[in-house]
Amino acid sequence: MEDTFRHKGLRKKLVETVSKKGITNKKILEAINKVPRHLFMDTGFINFAYKDQAFPIGEGQTISQPYTVAFQTQLLEIKRHDKVLEIGTGSGYQAAILLELGARVYTIERHRNLFLKVQTLLPSLGYKPNFYYGDGFKGVPSFAPFDKILITAAAAHVPKELLEQLKIGGRMVVPVGGEGYQEMTLIVKKGEDEYERSNHGGFVFVPMISGTFNGK
Ligand code: SAH
Repeated sequence: MEDTFRHKGLRKKLVETVSKKGITNKKILEAINKVPRHLFMDTGFINFAYKDQAFPIGEGQTISQPYTVAFQTQLLEIKRHDKVLEIGTGSGYQAAILLELGARVYTIERHRNLFLKVQTLLPSLGYKPNFYYGDGFKGVPSFAPFDKILITAAAAHVPKELLEQLKIGGRMVVPVGGEGYQEMTLIVKKGEDEYERSNHGGFVFVPMISGTFNGK
């Protein structure tokens, strides 16, 4: 697992691309500059790792486009020591970005193979979130409430159980919609049962898997 000058150079270019598309948060740009995205992808795709695109990671899933990762992270307004719940660990790239920003990360993955793979990969790169294998719709009630909740797959609706696991004053970012188009939605929890909701443009994610989770 190498991180060469060539990779570092490509990463600088990626930072420029993402910043031109409207990401202004310096810490997020620094994190993108630091995280070796090529190590999160299957070997066949290493040459594409620094294009601003999503790529397959197996099980019909994708590593999100860097701009999308940056956009969701920017909406969350991550501060050091924030307790963040991520739904959809996938490749682990988004979790690595959150950890670079000083967040404490809890991340759930529903695909067993992806979960097993990322559980080895991230610590080998020095990233240590709390990993969960399970259904993201349920969250992690035993560690709630969270300062921030991030959903990295398309949700047909905003999961109620996750809203309950958000701190008052906390922020949740979730792409809401059906297949092919979702509206990036920011929810700020104002009170026990009071939420402020705003839309932030169209995106395309793989759908969140629903239905009974049987641990297989
Ligand atoms: N954050 C990831 C993006 C992965 S794509 C990254 O940076 O690479 C979305 C991920 O959500 C996939 O890995 C998929 O398996 C997972 N997922 C889909 N439905 C889920 C659910 N109900 N609970 C937990 N994870 C889910």
